[in-house]
Amino acid sequence: MAAAVDDELYREIILDHYRHPRHRGLVDPADATVHGHNPLCGDEVDVSLRIRLGHIEAIGFEGQGCSISLASASMMASLVAGEPVAQARTVLHQLKQMLVEGTAAEDLDALGDLEALQGVRRYASRVKCAVLPWNALESGLAEAGGIHEERAS
Ligand code: ZN
Repeated sequence: MAAAVDDELYREIILDHYRHPRHRGLVDPADATVHGHNPLCGDEVDVSLRIRLGHIEAIGFEGQGCSISLASASMMASLVAGEPVAQARTVLHQLKQMLVEGTAAEDLDALGDLEALQGVRRYASRVKCAVLPWNALESGLAEAGGIHEERAS
């Protein structure tokens, strides 16, 4: 059954990111460092990032929590590092469409490995785990964007 094979593959991708996190460690200097907390599960994630010329020049995270929250943070950092801020916002939007609005992953073209998180939407409490680092990214982009707008004016 294709669905079972997909589930197994997705579980492996999530566990791989959990066991071998990418972009672990905070960025220095950072334009924004945002703390995310999911009291339902006890997840704590800090996301820091640096923006240069409209791109995410560097992004990193630290934290402790369940495999879903930390794998999601690792996948997020891998996917948006070096990318234009606009692309990061697109990924962020699509991730929320998939997990919160229930849009099918195959209709979303910017997700890459994040498709592995689609099974999470069956469990409302785990959606908060998966979205936690993304909410921190969203706040971080807003904060860093504000800094750059101030400098420009
Ligand atoms: Zn969690």
